[in-house]
Formats: sequence, structure tokens, C-alpha cells
Amino acid sequence: MSTTIEIQQFKLWDKLQAKRVPVSFDLEITARCNNDCRHCYINLPAGDSAAQASELTAAQILAIASDAAGMGAIWCLLTGGEPLLREDFAELYLGLKRLGLLVSLFTNACLITPAYVDLFQKYPPRDIEVTVYGVTPETYEHITRRPGSYGAFMRGLDLLLSSGLKVRLKAMAMRSNLHEHEAIADFCRARTKDFFRFDPQLHLRFDGDPARNDEIRAERLTPEQIAALECADDERVAALQKCRDTLIRDGSNHGGGNHLFHCGAGEGSFSVSCDGRFRLCSSLWAPGTTYDLRAGTLREAWEQFVPQVRDLRSNSPGYLETCRRCELVDLCLWCPAHAHLETGMMDGATPYFCAVAHARAALLKGKRSKT
Ligand code: SF4
Ligand code: SF4
Repeated sequence: MSTTIEIQQFKLWDKLQAKRVPVSFDLEITARCNNDCRHCYINLPAGDSAAQASELTAAQILAIASDAAGMGAIWCLLTGGEPLLREDFAELYLGLKRLGLLVSLFTNACLITPAYVDLFQKYPPRDIEVTVYGVTPETYEHITRRPGSYGAFMRGLDLLLSSGLKVRLKAMAMRSNLHEHEAIADFCRARTKDFFRFDPQLHLRFDGDPARNDEIRAERLTPEQIAALECADDERVAALQKCRDTLIRDGSNHGGGNHLFHCGAGEGSFSVSCDGRFRLCSSLWAPGTTYDLRAGTLREAWEQFVPQVRDLRSNSPGYLETCRRCELVDLCLWCPAHAHLETGMMDGATPYFCAVAHARAALLKGKRSKT
């Protein structure tokens, strides 16, 4: 795809969003993964035959993508699990490219081969994002719980980087790799012209598995550790400070109404799980908020189902008097989807996210008073 076409497509973006068109969508083409990361919110074993049998076929996925493109979508993210575990990945990828979509790929890079590099060089993705769990075999494999995965990751990443493809590197900041955080940042910046971002907020499992959720909680940094990491990252602080006045609404609140959704979920994008469940965003799994695309159409989901979900309301005083009115909500990971994953209720309280938001606000306010 030429740069000119990409620029034209991005100019279209604003117009499409104004019309409530599904501009972009995520396809979780498998929940299976070759790794078994401690913090992972989705993974199932690579050889899980029941999980594999429940996955949409390439034809079903491409039919959904074709409908999305017909409704105005221009950008699609292929994610998982590990997308490259699917034997029909190349067929799927080429099908999406033939639809004229910009395609991004999230991969752990362990399964990258010269054949995939040839495919991507011939039909370039918009970008490929790879997560760096650690920069030593000990740390990387402590997190992935797969012996040999560090060597596979490095081989795959080197293949991608040496091919000139657009690769972005990112990290999860968690207890098991906190001691390597700076080294991970240096590793990423050295390989990607300074691009690096990290995410310290670990989501709970989509399947609600209690034992796995305990593992994820055990990997979460404290609010103070998160604020300290952000404080030490000049780029991040600058970005937060730039938006400070919209992120912290001093003395004001969102007021008015009891709607649950105040984010952009379902306004310009959607997610589809590997078994065909449509959601307004990837984290939204609450009962009544998913739509089975094997039984209905994407147009019905988008035009009829999404407005119903976005109209959901809460009458819980605990919500209406706290998060609904909170001046820090834009600094916070609270939202109906995460509240449901954390508490089983879309209007539930999330004390950990609350503490993180307050630590971040204190950091921003402190930085502002020094400038
Ligand atoms: S590599 Fe990604 S999808 Fe696989 S287990 Fe780790 S976090 Fe999950
Ligand atoms: S969890 Fe706390 S900081 Fe976040 S929106 Fe609710 S009250 Fe505000």
C-alpha cells in the first residue's frame, strides 16, 4: 500500500468518525499462545484442541472484515493470543490486504520465520508491535514460562528488524521485570529509533479464571511504583503534562445522567473474539454486552446492538457519587469493562485503579507546581 493512499485514508478517518462508522476493528484470531505469560489476560495452551475448534474459520473472519470494510472500516488489528499460531495466518492476512485494509499485527515474535518476513515485505503491514518481557533469558522466561522462548523471541525480532519492516516495541511493567525496566527501555529505543512505550496496568482475565487472576494481581506494581516509573520517563511526563488540564478536571465533575459509558467504546471501533463474539472494546465481556456474529450480522451489531449497550445506566449510589463524578476519571483505568473484570459489576468500585489514578494525579500536580 502506498504512502499516498495511507494519507488519504487517514484524512478519511475524521470524517468517518463523525458519522459513527466503524473506522477500525480488532480481530483476536486465536486465544491460544506458545507462551504462558504470568500476566496474560487471554492465553490458552497452544495445543488446546477445544479452543482451536471454537475459532472462526478464515472465511468467517474475512466475511466479517469484508462487512466492516463495506461499512467504512479502514484499519484492522490482528491480535491474539499469538496470531501466528494459526496455520491459515497467511491466507487471512492476504485476505485482509485484498480488502484494502491497513493491517497491524501484535505478535510475541517467537514464531516469525523468513517466510513470514517475505510475506510482510511483499504486502507490508501498517506496523508490527512486539512486547519485550525482559532482556535476559532469565527474566523473559520467568514471565513467559516457556524454556527457549527468549532465544525464539530474539531470532524473530532480529528477522523483523533486519527486514526494514515497521516494528514498534513495548513492554508491560510488572514485578517480575521491574528490575530490568531501564534495560528494557534502552533495548527498545536502540532498535526502534527511540520508540518505546510501557503499560503498567495489568488487566484481569477475560475468562475470569480466579487462579490466573491471582497471578496477575501478584504481578501488579504498587501505585507508588507506577507513579515513580512514569515520573522517570520524560516523554511520558511531557505527554501527560500536555494533556493535564483535560486529564484532571479540577473542581469540576462529569455530572449529569447515570450512563455507564463515557468513553469511545463502540463509537468508531469494535472487537471480535476468536469465536465470533462482537464487543464494543476488547475488555468488555459483561453479560449482555457481547453479540454473537455467528448468529447475526455485523451491521445489526453495529447499528442496533451498540446503541443499546451504550445506553446502559447505573442507579448505584456507590457509582454515581464516586467514579461517575470523579475529576480523575481520565487518569484512571476505571471504566465499565474493567470494573466488570475486577468486580463482576460494570458499576463496581476498583480501589487499585483508584489508588493508581491518585498517585498519577499527585505526580502531575507536583510536576506542575515545580514548573
Ligand atoms: S505472549 Fe502475549 S498472548 Fe502469549 S501468553 Fe504472553 S501476553 Fe499472552
Ligand atoms: S476509581 Fe477512583 S480515580 Fe478512578 S474514576 Fe473511580 S473514583 Fe475516580
